[in-house]
Amino acid sequence: SSKRPVTVIGLGPMGQAMVRTFLDAGHPVTVWNRTASRADALVERGAVRAASAAEALSANELVVLSLTDYNAMYEVLEPAAHALSGRVVVNLSSDTPEKTRAGARWIAEHGGIQLSGGVTVPPSGIGQPESSTFYSGPRDSFEKHRATLETLTRAEFRGEDPGLAALYYQLGMVMFWTSMLSYWQAIALGEVNGLTAADVLPHAAETMASMPNFLSFYAERIDAGEHGGDVDRLAMGMASVEHVLHTNVEAGVDTALPAAVVDLFRRGMDAGYEADSFSSLVKLMRRPAA
Ligand code: NDP
Repeated sequence: SSKRPVTVIGLGPMGQAMVRTFLDAGHPVTVWNRTASRADALVERGAVRAASAAEALSANELVVLSLTDYNAMYEVLEPAAHALSGRVVVNLSSDTPEKTRAGARWIAEHGGIQLSGGVTVPPSGIGQPESSTFYSGPRDSFEKHRATLETLTRAEFRGEDPGLAALYYQLGMVMFWTSMLSYWQAIALGEVNGLTAADVLPHAAETMASMPNFLSFYAERIDAGEHGGDVDRLAMGMASVEHVLHTNVEAGVDTALPAAVVDLFRRGMDAGYEADSFSSLVKLMRRPAA
C-alpha cells in the first residue's frame, strides 16, 4: 500500500470508527487497547494487534490516541515511555487546554511530538467529508501527517500552542451544552402546558436560526469595546429574564437554568451596567471575581 501506516491506541466507539476508516482507505493500521477483546473485530478487518503499548508505539511514527482523557494517556504511555522517541502522537482525547499543554510537554520530554486534536463529531461522523477536527502543535509535524489525518475528518489547524485545539473544542462545547439545555427547558415548559416536543420544535428552530445575526452584531461591538445601551439595556433584559424565571416557577418545572440566568443579570445590575448593553455581562464573566 502507498498509504502511510498508522497506530491507533484506544478502541472506544471513537477509536474503532477511526481504525475502520483508516483500513477502508487503505492505511495499514496497528492497534492496541487496554481491554484487548475490543480489537478483535478490527483485527478481522485487517488491523494488526500489538502485544503492548510499547510495541504499538514502535510500529509506526504516527500514533493516534483516542482515550477518555489525558489521565488515561499517562496510564497507557508511562510504562511505554521509552518508545516515545521520534513518534508523532496525535492525541484526539478531549480534555482542558492546560491538560493538553502539560501532555505536550510530557511527550516532548520523552523525545516525541504531540499534536493535540479536538474531534467535533460523534463516531458516526468519522470518514464523512463534512466533519472536522481542530489540531494544534508543531506545524511541520501537522503538515507532514495532514493527508493521513484528513482520512478521518477535515483538519483545521489552529496554531502551534498545543492548547488551542482543546480551547476551540471547548468553545464549541460550552455553547452546545448550554444551548441544548435551553432546548430541554423549553420542551419541559411546553410539556407541562400540554405541548409536545414536536409542537415546540418549529419555534425552537426559528429562535436558534435567528442567533447568527446576534452573534456577529455583538462580536463587532465587543471587540471594539462598545457596550453602550443604544440598542438594548441590561435593565430591560433583567425584566425579561425575570419573566422567564417566573413562567417556569408558575409551571412548576425545574428552575436551575433560568435562575442562573437571572443571577448573572442581577450581578450585572449590581456592577452598575443597568443602562448599558447586556453584552457588558461579558466583562463580568471575563473577571468573575471583580
Ligand atoms: P471512551 O471513553 O468510550 O473511550 C475509552 C477508551 O479509553 C477505551 O479504549 C478505554 O479502554 C480507554 N481508557 C480509558 N481509561 C483508560 C485507562 N485508565 N487506561 C487505559 N485505557 C483507558 O470514549 P470514546 O471512544 O467515545 O471517545 C474517545 C475520545 O474522543 C474521548 O476523549 C471523547 O471525549 C472524544 N470524543 C468522543 C466523541 C463521541 O461522541 N464519542 C465526540 C467527540 C470527541 P478500555 O476499552 O480498556 O476501557
